[in-house]
Amino acid sequence: MDRCVKCGDVATSAPLITFSWHTPLIFLSIFAGVVLYLILALILRQSVSFRVGLCHRHASLRRAWSVGAWIGLVAFLGGFFVAAAMESGIPLLVVNLPGLVLAIVGSRLATTLRPIVIRDGVGHFTGACPSYLESIPAMPLPVPGRGER
Ligand SMILES: [Zn+2]
Repeated sequence: MDRCVKCGDVATSAPLITFSWHTPLIFLSIFAGVVLYLILALILRQSVSFRVGLCHRHASLRRAWSVGAWIGLVAFLGGFFVAAAMESGIPLLVVNLPGLVLAIVGSRLATTLRPIVIRDGVGHFTGACPSYLESIPAMPLPVPGRGER
């Protein structure tokens, strides 16, 4: 049985999660416009998908924070319409700002593993607990002259 990547307990679920990553240099394109950044990020991102073992507690936390992040995003985007309808800046402080904070914090806390780099279908991640990492058998060292090109 798999183990939970967050605490090392027995996993009760293993959702298939797609992780995406792009080189941080692409963030510089935000200065030229968010749309340009989004286009570059979509084109140049690298993704891998695999099942991530989670215990009942961490699966529940992941679901709850995901819902919170979506609610925050809806509040953040919807706040602009409310502000426009009211012709007031108050909703920007009362709706948009808390929505943005909830979206960022929620998505961060809903994250199981965070990719450090993904290239050619191979990813390096952070965020797994030490006891989970200790439960993984060590990878055998490559035998020189075999499988290398
Ligand atoms: Zn857990």
